[in-house]
Amino acid sequence: MREPRIGIFGGTFNPVHIGHVRAAIEVAEALGLAGVEFAPAARPPHKSGDPLLDFALRLDLCRAAVSGIPGFSVNPLENERPGPSYTCDLLADLARTRPGEQFCFIMGMGDLLCLAAWKNGLGLGRLAHLAVHARQGQELEAFGRFLDHNAKAMGAAPTADPAVWSLPQGRLMQYVPVARLDVSASDIRRRWQEGKRIDGLMRPSVLDKLLTHADALPAGWGRPPAA
Ligand code: ATP
Repeated sequence: MREPRIGIFGGTFNPVHIGHVRAAIEVAEALGLAGVEFAPAARPPHKSGDPLLDFALRLDLCRAAVSGIPGFSVNPLENERPGPSYTCDLLADLARTRPGEQFCFIMGMGDLLCLAAWKNGLGLGRLAHLAVHARQGQELEAFGRFLDHNAKAMGAAPTADPAVWSLPQGRLMQYVPVARLDVSASDIRRRWQEGKRIDGLMRPSVLDKLLTHADALPAGWGRPPAA
């Protein structure tokens, strides 16, 4: 029997919020993943304009976000490499250091549509299974269109199910509809800057940790929400 797949959820997580947690849970349930590792990018190549929380704090917030969810954990690997955090390097490191395991990289539809601009983005399917989560029902067409254009470069081939494409070495690329919550890290940062409350947008333990560090956040975060 093949090893169960482990989800790798990459992101900036600046900060992690309930949209991330719900999407990861729904993908894990839909694909029968053994667990999901949140892997914050240490130096995200595409988000240089945003005021970035320290990697150690983003990692800690992710730990709080996944606590108590069976099989969920946080992977600090992205901080062990110098330079920009490229997903292809993360997946290559995982394949090299954990050879018996099967990984499934989890990304949102927005990321998929930018994949051709990522370093070796169209080669990710040669390193791991791919799961693309998107708003329920709405984006299967966009998934199909992307693959119609990029299947050759990705080594992907359609199957009878439009939500599943085959990848090299028996891997799969799957579209997973999720009930996407209308929450984003940028909206949370904006509310925080305006001194508004962000309760409910992240798990309470994540908010507690962020408030504990409120006096030491990077320039650009502004003042914490009123107590
Ligand atoms: P920002 O608003 O700063 O761009 P973000 O909230 O989109 O950040 P990221 O860390 O950039 O968070 O996202 C990591 C992954 O989580 C991406 O694949 C993204 O598509 C996904 N994601 C972000 N917000 C949601 C959400 N509300 N529901 C489901 N997935 C989400």
